[in-house]
Amino acid sequence: MDLFNHLENNQALFNAIVTSSNDAIVSKTLDGIITSWNPAAEKMFGYLQTEAVGKHISLIIPEDRLSEEDYIIGQIKAGKKVDHFETIRKTKNGQNFPISVTVSPVVDKEGNIIGASKIARDISDRHIAQQEKAELLEKLKELNIRKDEFIALASHELRTPLTSMDAYLQILKRYIDDEKVKVFLEKALAQSKKLNHLISDLLDVSKIESGKLVLRIEKFDIHQLVEDTIDLISKANEFFEITLHSEIDSIQIEGDHYKIEQVITNLLTNAIRYSAGSKQIDVFIKAENGIAIIGVKDYGAGIDSNHFEDIFSRFYQVHQSNNVSGLGLGLYLCKQIISQHWGKIWVESELKKGSTFWIELPVSQC
Ligand code: ADP
Repeated sequence: MDLFNHLENNQALFNAIVTSSNDAIVSKTLDGIITSWNPAAEKMFGYLQTEAVGKHISLIIPEDRLSEEDYIIGQIKAGKKVDHFETIRKTKNGQNFPISVTVSPVVDKEGNIIGASKIARDISDRHIAQQEKAELLEKLKELNIRKDEFIALASHELRTPLTSMDAYLQILKRYIDDEKVKVFLEKALAQSKKLNHLISDLLDVSKIESGKLVLRIEKFDIHQLVEDTIDLISKANEFFEITLHSEIDSIQIEGDHYKIEQVITNLLTNAIRYSAGSKQIDVFIKAENGIAIIGVKDYGAGIDSNHFEDIFSRFYQVHQSNNVSGLGLGLYLCKQIISQHWGKIWVESELKKGSTFWIELPVSQC
């Protein structure tokens, strides 16, 4: 094939590509006069080739975007390509639509820049998809707010009758001598206490979600708090042997005493609830480099490492099949409370060998 044929074939190929392209391909002089206009440009902008060629490119630029042309021509004159520039263009019937444009310099045989060629893609579909996504996100946010409001309201409304039911049960207990009836009454009281805890957890979640959880910060001895909590839990769960391992007597921290107690209680009750047969629970407490470190170790069910992050999220439960009741909120609340105290909480665990939940909290500096 001689050179002439080769060039002619290349030109034919080039023309075929331009003609069949789905993207609008338009070229213009450095003064902005349109010199070529492919069929996709006809379809996209609504002007026939005969209508567009010879006209200024401002034909398809909305008035408030005319200054973009100066920028594009400036780049082209400097020999630079303008890549994937997203903007708005207008059709013959005055409709604006989003496009992505790439503009490249057109160079003559001597290497002089004589114009620009641009490839434009209609990105309306992408814009619509983005808009739909944004609307969907907005709806989800709204639903989430409604859900939190519902949780707050429902838990508040549930608590009022429960409190009086609990009070009546306590009064009834004083009047009853029959030991058999007393056993049933104790069971009813235990269940109402459990329900109270669940409702408190739900209320705390809604407070956290709406940023209304207020901490009452004071200086206190977390060592003492851990000892007292172990005492309390041990009395209520005599089967378990909870051992405190510590080489110090006191660690002062600044925080909300009741909230930190809630965290320690939660970790200890979880250790008991997921211990399955083993009665040993070890608690470690120490202070290192200005940080108080507390660990609660059990020898029970254990947790697979792929749940380590998720167990700290709302309503997440790993062991749903056993008869342990819960909402999957305890560890979420622990994490929120500890984070609000500038601390850290994490778990180390091995399936069927047990788990250790660790907390770090800054020690008081004064
Ligand atoms: P729940 O009320 O379900 O116990 P938590 O947020 O306290 O909620 O715990 C989340 C999940 O983490 C639990 O459902 C349980 O599967 C797992 N988990 C928590 N503590 C332990 C533990 N000490 N040993 C084994 N699994 C645990």
